Amino acid sequence: MSEPKQQCPQCGERAGVPILYGMATPETFDDPDIAIGGCIVDHDSPNRRCLSCGHAWRATFEPGPPISHEQSVPRSHRRRPLPKSSLRRKKG
Ligand SMILES: [Zn+2]
Repeated sequence: MSEPKQQCPQCGERAGVPILYGMATPETFDDPDIAIGGCIVDHDSPNRRCLSCGHAWRATFEPGPPISHEQSVPRSHRRRPLPKSSLRRKKG
């Protein structure tokens, strides 16, 4: 599964793929949607590369929706299977 390509700021094509640094697997090398950046990562290193023009840039993460502290985010409820003995059953 590959994420949707990002728009290249240089040529405007939606051909920006994530540049993968470090641990590259043979699968990654074969994946045309992932560019290999090498092992050395700067904090300024580009993390997107355009497959169309070869331009590399650093994509900033899109900020999510603002989280207000007053409104607590509900945690995902753990589904706990109820023991059958706890089921209500009426006899008679
Ligand atoms: Zn481009």
